[in-house]
Amino acid sequence: MSPAPANLSPQLVDRYGRTVNYVRISVTDRCDFRCVYCMAEEMTFLPRAQVLTLEELAFIGRAFVDLGVQKIRITGGEPLVRRNVSRLFRDLGALSLRELVLTTNGSQLPRMAQELKDAGVRRINVSLDSLRRDRFRQITRVGDLDQVLAGIEAARRVGFERIKINSVILRHRNDDEIIDLVRYASERGMDISFIEEMPLGVIGDHDRAEAFYSSDEVRRDIERAYTLTATAETTGGPSRYFRINETGTRVGFISPHSHNFCESCNRVRLTVEGRLLLCLGQEHSVDLKRVVRANPGDLATLKQAIRDSMAIKPRGHDFDLAAQPVIFRHMNVTGG
Ligand code: SAM
Ligand code: SF4
Repeated sequence: MSPAPANLSPQLVDRYGRTVNYVRISVTDRCDFRCVYCMAEEMTFLPRAQVLTLEELAFIGRAFVDLGVQKIRITGGEPLVRRNVSRLFRDLGALSLRELVLTTNGSQLPRMAQELKDAGVRRINVSLDSLRRDRFRQITRVGDLDQVLAGIEAARRVGFERIKINSVILRHRNDDEIIDLVRYASERGMDISFIEEMPLGVIGDHDRAEAFYSSDEVRRDIERAYTLTATAETTGGPSRYFRINETGTRVGFISPHSHNFCESCNRVRLTVEGRLLLCLGQEHSVDLKRVVRANPGDLATLKQAIRDSMAIKPRGHDFDLAAQPVIFRHMNVTGG
C-alpha cells in the first residue's frame, strides 16, 4: 500500500491541543481603497524588498500543505492589486488543498473573476459595507460602488461555489443598511457575514468604542424583518451561522468582542513581510522570511520552523474597546 499523503495527518498542534489547518496569507499591504476602519488616510506601504515574492509565498504555501493545512485564504491589503498574483493562485491551486479561498474588495473582479475560477479558487468573500454610492465612497474614502457591484456580478457569472458578502457595521455610519445588505445578498443567492470592528492599528477616523455595533444588535435588527435559526454549520472559521427561514440565506456573525472565538482557533496568519502570526490579537510571531531567505529551496527547514511555532501560539487575544490599540499593525498588513 502506498503511504498516506502527508496532509492527512495533522502535524500542527499547539500547546492547547488545537490543530492548525487553516492559513490566511496576506499577499500585499497595498490597496486601492482606504476603508476608515482599516487604514489611515495617508499610508506608507512597505518597500518591495521587504515583501515576500510570489515564489516565496507559493513555497511557504506548499510547506503548510505538507504539514496538514487544508485551507488557504488569500487576503491583504487588496490581494488582486498585486501584479501577477494569478500566478500564485495557480501555484496554490495545484496543491492538494481542500479549499483555496479569497477575500477581496471586489474592485478588480470584473477583469479577474474568470482567471481566479480557472486557477482553482472555489469560494470568495467580497467586502461591501454600503449600497449607497456616496456612503460607500465615505467608508472606503476612494472606492467606487458601481465597480464593486460589477465585480460581484462578474463573480456570479463565472460560477464560484459560493460568494459571501462581508460587512463591517459602524454605528451611525451604516447600521441602517443591515436589512438592505441582507436583502441584496439573499436575492442573489449569496451568504452574508457581519463583522465587529477590531482595534487594529491607529486609524484616526472615528472613536472605535463609539462606533462599535455588536453582532447581537445586528441580529436583533435582522430579526425585525426575518426569522433566524441558528445552525451548527461551520466553514472552519470563527463565524457563528444562522439561516434566514424566509430565504434560506446563511448569515454569519464574526464577533471578536462579544463572543470570543479563541478556544476553537484553528488558524495562523502570514503577514506580507513573511511574519507568521500565531494570533490576530497578539504579537507572537516567527520570521519565516528570514528562514526562507537564509535557506533557499530548503523545504525541511521551513517546515521545522513552522512546526516549532506551535509552541508559542497564545491561548487567545484580549481586545479592549476602551483602550488605545495595543496592536499597532493595521489590518491590511495582518491580512484580515
Ligand atoms: N481588501 C480585501 C477586503 O477588503 O475584503 C481583503 C483585506 S481586508 C483587511 C479583509 C476584511 O477585513 C474585510 O472584510 C474588511 O472589512 C475587514 N476589516 C478591515 N479592518 C477591520 C477592522 N479594524 N475590524 C474588523 N474588520 C476589519
Ligand atoms: Fe483595502 Fe480591504 Fe482594508 Fe478596505 S478593508 S482598506 S479594501 S484592505
